[in-house]
Amino acid sequence: MDSETIQKTYAIVPGLNMGIFVPKDLESILQIINKYDVPATKITSAQRLALLGMAQEEMAALQQELKSHTRKTAVNGVHYVQACPGLKWCKYGTADSLALGTELEKISMEKPLNAKVKVGVSGCRMCCTEPYVRDVGIFASKKGWTLVFGGNGGGRPRIGDIVAENLTDEQVLVLVKKCLNVYQEDSKPRSRTARFMEHFGIDALKERVLA
Ligand code: SF4
Repeated sequence: MDSETIQKTYAIVPGLNMGIFVPKDLESILQIINKYDVPATKITSAQRLALLGMAQEEMAALQQELKSHTRKTAVNGVHYVQACPGLKWCKYGTADSLALGTELEKISMEKPLNAKVKVGVSGCRMCCTEPYVRDVGIFASKKGWTLVFGGNGGGRPRIGDIVAENLTDEQVLVLVKKCLNVYQEDSKPRSRTARFMEHFGIDALKERVLA
């Protein structure tokens, strides 16, 4: 990495969580991007917007201007939620993935989670948000939601385990919180859910959360 690169940093606009925005907000963000002559902008794999290559001394002013576009995040919540268009906007959708994603963003734990927890919600079995390789993955069928836990799509990928199927919105939200509580209580610091599930096992998790 050369010295010029080391001096650069970046900002993310959390207000576009799940990739959702209204034109008015995007226009305003574009004005800010132009005002600060942001060198590069990118839609991230997490369905957020990243402003890249800013000089460090400009960051504080930029973040201040972006403040009104920052959505409140839950205390000790998940890292991010990805959700597909779902029932509302996709012809294959059987459930409202965006509405469920919004509820999942509100989950608040007593203590910070031990590591990043990424969530993917899909409105049908096509699984466009790749729920099997998310820490928490959820997809819909006509009978309800399926919850998958402990997936990872990184350098040590892991297919998550199915915890339960045919769940209502309320049931899946309760069960996600229970899974996160067990992960919180029994995992090592900084251990992702995939590594945790490798030694804890799906049977033990089911015993704890489905009892
Ligand atoms: S997962 Fe299903 S509902 Fe969601 S975008 Fe893909 S095809 Fe559409």
